[in-house]
Amino acid sequence: MTIDTDLKEKLQALAFNVTDNFCYGCYRVVEGDFCPGCSSDDFMRHLDGVGVEYGTDWIIEHLIKEHCEAVNAEDEFEEMLNECYDTVKVGCCQWEAGYVMKELDPVTFRCGVSDYFANDDQYIEVDGEYYGVSDIENMVDELTD
Ligand SMILES: [Zn+2]
Repeated sequence: MTIDTDLKEKLQALAFNVTDNFCYGCYRVVEGDFCPGCSSDDFMRHLDGVGVEYGTDWIIEHLIKEHCEAVNAEDEFEEMLNECYDTVKVGCCQWEAGYVMKELDPVTFRCGVSDYFANDDQYIEVDGEYYGVSDIENMVDELTD
């Protein structure tokens, strides 16, 4: 995941908001800044029904998968090719560029999909799926209110 700093901060704040402090030593959810059992402030995050782990990346990924819809990467890439390249004409037949690449060289097509989305900062990858940054920003706004 590469996310711009501002959005990353908002997602981290949201991840903290939707989770509880969890003391691993006492194995309990803790309210407040210190564990009443051992006085530790080194908390894991606890997300109800999902799990317990250090850090916030796993929470952010969960929120994105739960609230946003992954784009259909292959369709979007194919459309981009159709827009950028001329149709291929042979005799009386004619095919769109994206269709040609997808059918004739599916391996290159799939590599193209990965490269295209990995290099576009309008998308964020989570577990091999791509999500629009604007969708994620909307989710943050909705869940933060
Ligand atoms: Zn404790």
